[in-house]
Order: sequence, then C-alpha cells, then structure tokens
Amino acid sequence: MKTNPPETAAPTDAEARRALAPVICYPVETLPQPPMALYRTARATLQPVFEVIAPPRDAACFHVPAGHFFRIHSTQGPQVGDLNLWNAADLTERFYSGKTRALHGTHLSTGDRLWSSFPALRPLATITHDTLDWYGFDAFGGGVHDVIGTRCDPYTHALLTDGGQYHHCCHSNLTRALAAETGLPLAEAERHVHDVLNVFMCTGFTRDTGQYFMKASPVRPGDYLEFIAETDLLGALSACPGGDCSAEHSSDAAACYPLRIEVLRPAPGALDGWHPAAASRYDRSHGA
Ligand SMILES: [Zn+2]
Repeated sequence: MKTNPPETAAPTDAEARRALAPVICYPVETLPQPPMALYRTARATLQPVFEVIAPPRDAACFHVPAGHFFRIHSTQGPQVGDLNLWNAADLTERFYSGKTRALHGTHLSTGDRLWSSFPALRPLATITHDTLDWYGFDAFGGGVHDVIGTRCDPYTHALLTDGGQYHHCCHSNLTRALAAETGLPLAEAERHVHDVLNVFMCTGFTRDTGQYFMKASPVRPGDYLEFIAETDLLGALSACPGGDCSAEHSSDAAACYPLRIEVLRPAPGALDGWHPAAASRYDRSHGA
C-alpha cells in the first residue's frame, strides 16, 4: 500500500517522470484471436447435456469435453463463484490467473480467454457470452469477473483473526470437491487448487491507496457467464461464503445462494474446422 507522506523527497523532475504515457505490456495485435464468429454460430445450436449445483458455501466439480460449452448461472440471489480449471488429462496444467490478467486486463468478459500454466500456456476456455458485460467499470473503478483476487482461504483468515478457524472458504470448498471428484487425498488435492476467476464478483483497486476492494455484485438470478472448452476440462466452482461479497467472507454471516453449472453441446458440424488448443511452441531449452 502506498503511504502518505512518502519518506523520500521527490526529485526535481518528478512530474515529468509521472507524465510519461503508459505502454500496454502485451500488445493485443499479436495475440491469436479466438474465432468468435464461429463460436457465435455454434452457441446458437447448444443443447444442455449435464448440470450440477454448487451449494452455498460449498463447491462442485464438472467435466467439459473440448468443443462443448459451459455456463455458470446465478439462481436464487446474488452470489459470486470462484472458478478453478484444469486440463482434464493433467491436473498440473491449470488456469493461470496472473498471465490471464497480464494478457487481458484485471476483469474478463466476452472474447477473453483463460490461459493455462507453463509449459503449456494455452487457452483452457474462451468466454463466449456474459450477461453482465453492460457493467463495464463503475465510478469506483470496480468491474465484474476479476482475475486480481486469489480465493478466500483459511490461512489468511487465521492470519487476520489470531488463529481463527473457518472451513468453508472457497479454497477449502474447492479442495474438498476436487478430492471427492478425483479420489486424491485431501492434502494432495489441495496442491492443485489455484487462484481463481472470480465469477460475478465486483472488485477493483482504490484510486488513492491501490487497495483491493469488493462491493455488492450486480449479478441477479438469470444472469450467466458462458465459456467454450478449448481442451478437455475439469472444472470446480465454489459458491463463495461471501455471498454477493458486499460485506465480508470467511464467515457464515452473508446470505448465500447456489450456483448452477450447465454443460452444453453444439450441433454436429457446428464447429467444423475447429481444433482443441495446442500447447506453447516454445522449445523449452532455456538457452542451455
Ligand atoms: Zn470465496
């Protein structure tokens, strides 16, 4: 956090240094673009094939074959969800929130992709529809569906509450769900849980101190976020104990609602010419 006043005197050219224009780190012109026209055609043919509910303060796992779509639905009330994604064939390839943020910005919407960890660095999924895309950024700098948070977890809770124990943080919910889905021991499943896409959560950084903030989610029942699986996926979604995240998480105080995950199949031929995402072409010699 930036403190005021600073301890170091500003140099005489401080304003000139501050006035330099920013440069976008990763120019989007060279980023391979998803075939959104094809995806829009295909999504018009979708038929539901599976659904599962993430109960309040709990999580659920789901499989999505490459080329299928999945939707996360708001059901009974405003509720945010913490999403983990893995390559179904290799759990060590997981959603890489930090690189996704570097490539697409702090908050995701239609056309943005969820990239995987090294060495694959491939899109695991692409967002194909977002009923909250109207929100944009509010006057506080808040936006929806961020990749700036991590996931609420019992370790930070214990740190901030002098050893307090809470077992239904998203980190623990995702851990239990993955252990149940895969048969892995709890401690091993926990190692695969990673920083999330904060579905429906409204967050930003305060303008004066740069602190991470949250505010009540604008999501309402009927809203959904839709993705296409760019490879065979295992997903896990936690219905955060923060509910709409208007006040706090890591407690049972907030009103919480279920989230519905729906997997949908496009009509045969609707994705003709499309292929699952390939892994990075870097040769991994690292100059050695
Ligand atoms: Zn949470």
